[in-house]
Amino acid sequence: MNNYQALFDRQYNYFFNGNTRDIKGRIDAIRSIGNELNRFEKQINEAIFLDLRKSGFELFTTEIASVQHEIKWISSQLRKWTRPIKVRTNLVNLPGRSRIIIEPYGNTLIIGTWNYPFLLNLKPAVTAIAAGNPVIIKPSEHSPHSSEIMAKVISAAIPEERGSVVLGGIPEVTELLRLPFEKIFFTGSTNVGKLVMKAAAENLASVSLELGGKSPAIVFPDAVQPVSARRIVWGKFLNAGQTCIAPDYILVHESVAQNLIDNLALQILSMFGPDVSKSDAFGRIVDQRHFERLAALIDPAKTVIGGTHSLKDLFISPTVLYPVSFSDPVMQEEIFGPILPVIPYSDIDDVIRQLKSLPKPLALYVFTKSVKDQDKVFSSVSFGGGCINDAVMHIANPYLPFGGVGPSGNGRYHGRSGILEFSNQKSVMNKATWIDPFIRYPPFTAFKEKILRKLL
Ligand code: NAD
Repeated sequence: MNNYQALFDRQYNYFFNGNTRDIKGRIDAIRSIGNELNRFEKQINEAIFLDLRKSGFELFTTEIASVQHEIKWISSQLRKWTRPIKVRTNLVNLPGRSRIIIEPYGNTLIIGTWNYPFLLNLKPAVTAIAAGNPVIIKPSEHSPHSSEIMAKVISAAIPEERGSVVLGGIPEVTELLRLPFEKIFFTGSTNVGKLVMKAAAENLASVSLELGGKSPAIVFPDAVQPVSARRIVWGKFLNAGQTCIAPDYILVHESVAQNLIDNLALQILSMFGPDVSKSDAFGRIVDQRHFERLAALIDPAKTVIGGTHSLKDLFISPTVLYPVSFSDPVMQEEIFGPILPVIPYSDIDDVIRQLKSLPKPLALYVFTKSVKDQDKVFSSVSFGGGCINDAVMHIANPYLPFGGVGPSGNGRYHGRSGILEFSNQKSVMNKATWIDPFIRYPPFTAFKEKILRKLL
């Protein structure tokens, strides 16, 4: 029996014996995680800086503040969100009452990634714990400093039967995936998502996949400038482009393409200064493998902004490529770095046809004042979530469920949708016994059939 099996069993028994049922206990547990996040804040900041060189401001807003907000919000709403939901009862079942009971699944595995190490591991983890599940969190081996401090935070906050961090990479995940988890929540690449889903099929675990893909931003001729360019630059180059919902590429109407590029250049200059490598608001590429993959995607012949890089510092400057087409190498995979291809278009109907033929993205952004054009795109292209006249910010609206569709994932979390994602929704009907209409029982007669036909 390996360690994971023993840990799994302890969590199973803890859950089986009802220790995670009490709502107050769940709230205390996630609040305790919040307190430890505060206590360890300095070490967390140092760890994330060592892993990704994020600035203090970016780090606070996109990592810790977001998890703390989720903890506060869930704590204040959990009783309401886990209350049975009353629903109507249809005519043939009257007299009766119906409700949906929200219950935890049980042993839960959270596999996370490195680009927002605290946000993407702990936001689902606190939601799962609040929903009453014991969790094992497996953060990424590519953000080792963050993963280590996360393990300390969790073990200081809650008993390991309620939540525990397992460190490691592919061998450890492979071993964990052999265990009969009830729920698996995975954040990462589409290819590994497929492996996770295959492994989960063995035990028929419920699976949520938060994956990636190529998220487009469409810039129409009437897009308001410079605000559109400013928001695209911010969303794209946040965390050096290593954001799952960053605009992966821009589709711009050819009549405003040069104007957009001029505005992008101005915004990059204004946010990061003339030498971006000296800006403390711009991060670094996570490791050499990703650096080399990204550097190879920069086509010098199409580089209109940036293009400089340094392996020693894992630095790639904000880079804009133009004019790009769908057949260019940079358009064959999710970029996940500070390279922004710009594709000119002449007819939005062609763009929509093209987008419909591509894998459904995690996000989509349109920049236009025209409600007609906004509706045209949103009613024909499928994607996980997005914005009109902004980028990335839909993730910061806790009332919007967050997730992908098809190759960009499935399942939704954040707030109430997260609690439901980590819960079995048990449908229960409570029937009166003082009356028991005879028509549903054999022997069947023409008279019974006539009444049934009327009722149904
Ligand atoms: P990844 O799939 O390589 O790794 C994610 C996790 O899976 C890690 O914990 C890793 O240890 C594990 N893993 C990796 N290979 C494995 C294998 N063969 N078998 C079992 N486990 C394995 O992803 P990544 O490179 O860390 O992250 C980048 C991807 O994640 C991008 O595609 C990005 O869009 C996506 N992402 C999605 C979201 C979202 O919320 N939808 C958020 C962040 C990142």
